[in-house]
Amino acid sequence: MSAQAVIDSLEFARTEQELRGNLPASSLARLQDFLYDSAGSIEFTVKGCHDAEKRPLLALHISGLLHLRCQRCLERLDYPLRLSNALLLARRDENLDGTVADPAAIDYVEASTALDVAGLIEDEILLGLPFSPRHEEEGTCSNRTKGTERGGGKPGAFAPLAGLKKI
Ligand SMILES: [Zn+2]
Repeated sequence: MSAQAVIDSLEFARTEQELRGNLPASSLARLQDFLYDSAGSIEFTVKGCHDAEKRPLLALHISGLLHLRCQRCLERLDYPLRLSNALLLARRDENLDGTVADPAAIDYVEASTALDVAGLIEDEILLGLPFSPRHEEEGTCSNRTKGTERGGGKPGAFAPLAGLKKI
C-alpha cells in the first residue's frame, strides 16, 4: 500500500475492514530525531471493529525493528517494536461524558473521513518509544566512551598544556 493511505475511519470500523501495510522507517519524518539511522521498516495492521458497548474502534498492531541511539554509549541499539492498541473513534461533536467509566483507560482518536494511517501509526510508535533507550546491560554498550575516559592519563592529553607553557 502507499504510505499516504487514508481511511474513512468510522466506515472502516462499521464494516470491520482490515488494512495491512509496511512503512519504511525513513518515511516517518517525526521519528527521525529518535533514530540512530533510518534503516528498517515497520509492519502494521489496522482493524476496524467494535468494543463490547458497540462503539467503533481501530485495533492497531505494529511490529518491526528500529535502530535507536543508546543514551549511555550513543551507539546503535536494535529496538524490537511490538505495539498493540485499541483506539476508540470519537466524533468531534460527540459528548463523551457519561459514556465512559474511566476515560483515562481508553485511547481515543478523532474520527475522520480521511484518517492518515501512516500518521496514526507514527503517533503510536512515538508514544511507545522508551524515554531513554539503553542497552540492557552496561557490558553490552560500546567500549568507545569508556576508552576516552581512561585516555585522560595518557601523555598525549597534556600536550596542549605543554604548548601553552612555551608561550
Ligand atoms: Zn549502549
